[in-house]
Amino acid sequence: MSLHSLTLHELHSKLRKREISSQELTEAVFDRIAVTEERVHSFITLCRESALAEAKKADERLGTEKDPDPLLGVPIALKDIFLTRGVLTTCASKILGNFIPPYDATTVKKLRGAGAVIVGKTNMDEFAMGSSTENSALFVTRNPWNLDRVPGGSSGGSAAAVSADQCIAALGTDTGGSIRQPAACCGIVGLKPTYGRVSRFGIIAFASSLDQVGPITKEVMDSALMLEAIAGFDPMDSTSINAPVPPYSRYLDGDVKGLRAGIPKEYFIPGMQPDVEKAVKEAIRALEKNGVEIEEISLPHTEYAIAAYYIIATAEASSNLARYDGMKYGFRAHGKDLTETYVKTREEGFGAEVKRRIMLGTYALSAGYYDAYYLKAQKVRALIKKDFDEAFKTCDVIITPTAPTTAFEIGEKTQDPLQMYLSDIFTISVNLAGLPALSLPCGFDSDGLPIGLQVIGKHLDEATILRIAYAYEQATDWHKRKPNLAP
Ligand code: GLN
Repeated sequence: MSLHSLTLHELHSKLRKREISSQELTEAVFDRIAVTEERVHSFITLCRESALAEAKKADERLGTEKDPDPLLGVPIALKDIFLTRGVLTTCASKILGNFIPPYDATTVKKLRGAGAVIVGKTNMDEFAMGSSTENSALFVTRNPWNLDRVPGGSSGGSAAAVSADQCIAALGTDTGGSIRQPAACCGIVGLKPTYGRVSRFGIIAFASSLDQVGPITKEVMDSALMLEAIAGFDPMDSTSINAPVPPYSRYLDGDVKGLRAGIPKEYFIPGMQPDVEKAVKEAIRALEKNGVEIEEISLPHTEYAIAAYYIIATAEASSNLARYDGMKYGFRAHGKDLTETYVKTREEGFGAEVKRRIMLGTYALSAGYYDAYYLKAQKVRALIKKDFDEAFKTCDVIITPTAPTTAFEIGEKTQDPLQMYLSDIFTISVNLAGLPALSLPCGFDSDGLPIGLQVIGKHLDEATILRIAYAYEQATDWHKRKPNLAP
């Protein structure tokens, strides 16, 4: 098997035994990119030269370190929302089309410290607003399983790159589903950690009370290893949680006997693709066979989640995006005076979806509407969180589909933003409640497109999510299937 198609944990073992070098591996990954990128379009920026230099350094470290870090010498891709010192960071927006950050995000620093090789920056929906990566101001990324389909979003470039073996693992961000939904669409593993578990410092902000960084990987073990590397307290992020980071990967032994999983009845809705429902129900039965106790639960406020999210997320976005005025960084249009310069910069610099959200958010926060919309949405958010608190009194995890459908066709939903917003109906509540959740493959639909299973955990309990997901993965072989990208 070619090196690019191996997992992080497999490659780590080969690298530490020095059966392969990081330079060889990095070359293999760039060779893979060379033959696939013209069709998939995952990357906004490729860092071949610096990656090879990093690989050389990693090889030196591999030669001297007795117990090398699992990421040492492994090629990783970053969503283009992570600040990378000296490397173009666009957030897939024209307004940041020329932005070169002066520092690294904390998570990027941690990856570099661990010796990861940074392959490049991946495509995304502009400012992470979207579910298909079609809102990128730059180009459309295609789903490696079917090039006419979307890879999901907003971390679609990262998910496509992992699925197409153009990198070994990647980082994404998830505000309402943007790690889990693209992972589901691309047949791989995506983990959104607990809010505050991973530093947001140096992540371009979309909705600060919802945004969270997480790994996108080929397998569950890789997800655990990546989370170990990026999690932990960061004094640079005031919402960062000061709690020890468990050695997640060491808990993955396949034994899940006696764990209790709740199945929320509100998550099996009309309009859901029948193949998805069938695969998820089969996955639940497979877990039961492995000793997991299954019970039906209720999350009664689920139906209000999308409405509450689109008030809160747009309100926060309208405030976060006020900084893009053409003065401090990025693109500037020229007007006859200062006001016209501001207006033209934002008019030309932002895409349609971003403008829609800034307007929605500004409206929801304006005098006279604040109580009716924003305050109301915050109350709904508290109720949604309470639903989960209640449910977790009797179960250890909650299991649901990740998305109501598999990857849809490119262009299918671009004319109807409300249809697009519904793609996140099963992922959004988790962000509103600040909980951790993971998506992993649980089957394929009749068109051969991957289906995702979502495992939601208690606050800071990524460990149990990973244990359940790992046990399911080991009992099935969905994760071993690869898209056919032969030229
Ligand atoms: N699709 C959702 C949105 O458009 C979530 C995006 C995200 O998680 N970044 O806002």
